Amino acid sequence: MPRLRRQEGRLRDLPVDGEKKVLLAAPRGYCAGVDRAVVAVERALARYGAPVYVRKQIVHNVHVVRTLENLGAVFVEEVDEVPEGAHVVFSAHGVSPAVVRAAAERGLHAIDATCPLVTKVHREAVRFARQGRRILLIGHTGHEEVEGTAGEAPEHVTIVNSPDDVDGLEVEDPANLVWLSQTTLSVDETMETVRRLRERFPELQDPPSDDICYATQNRQVAIKRIAPQADLVLVVGSANSSNSVRLGEVALEYGARAAHRIDDASEVRQEWLDGVRTIGVTSGASVPEVLVQELLDDLADAGYADVEATVTAEEDLVFSLPKELREDAAGNRDARALGGRGR
Ligand code: SF4
Repeated sequence: MPRLRRQEGRLRDLPVDGEKKVLLAAPRGYCAGVDRAVVAVERALARYGAPVYVRKQIVHNVHVVRTLENLGAVFVEEVDEVPEGAHVVFSAHGVSPAVVRAAAERGLHAIDATCPLVTKVHREAVRFARQGRRILLIGHTGHEEVEGTAGEAPEHVTIVNSPDDVDGLEVEDPANLVWLSQTTLSVDETMETVRRLRERFPELQDPPSDDICYATQNRQVAIKRIAPQADLVLVVGSANSSNSVRLGEVALEYGARAAHRIDDASEVRQEWLDGVRTIGVTSGASVPEVLVQELLDDLADAGYADVEATVTAEEDLVFSLPKELREDAAGNRDARALGGRGR
């Protein structure tokens, strides 16, 4: 992603009591699912030529979307906006079977960039629905991922937005319940929702494995380590990025004196830095690293040049590309196309 035009010296270096410092979270930024989805759009553009249509934002980051638009991607809300016969990429958040059918009926060439960890939750929903179970899907109503997962079995899914929803739930058979979740939630809040659900429905069944993905969990663990030492936490990420918003909430819960989510460095306000010695910095799973580096440059202008990494996990997971894009036009595969294992 190209660097933004930086306005040097926008933030002033004002005195504070003690040393100024940045604690930089690791892991932060791009996860394997976001990387795969962005590369999928780039490869589709290279292979089929512009325009390539993308249903919804490919990932929830305004800078990524603008960069891909400049390369020739056209973002639409629904597949009926895509010309018949064109290529359309489904976003990392996943789609319901109804969207897949609508694309096929329009004769579109669909490329599915749904994160494999979201697809895993879809499969669980299908399996539990076939068993006739009521699925309590913990997640945010209206979020694209939740719409996609619920759309796998709409008759069987009840959405639970937060612990406060639990008391008002009405279910037909309390002995036939299983819970699933959106992949990008707060781990702590989700566990609280499950605790409240189990209090009401003791026979509630757990999913076979964690639905909150490794990337969401790892980024929350890193900011939990930093937060108690931070006068201020800055989270780079867009407002509609669930995991980015959660990082700010988690930072405050774990002791940060203040936390702000910003799309990029230009949104940092001078008054946020008043009396601040230690700034925690992290970024959501859909955020290109260049945006963090630009923030660090601006913070250095303001006297926060001492940057210390707080590393709580190493990540090396790479997902294979959607099958349509694993070979170039000449039939060659590269290492990126095949994916790899990691954490
Ligand atoms: S945040 Fe998690 S579920 Fe979402 S795209 Fe990244 S790895 Fe996949």
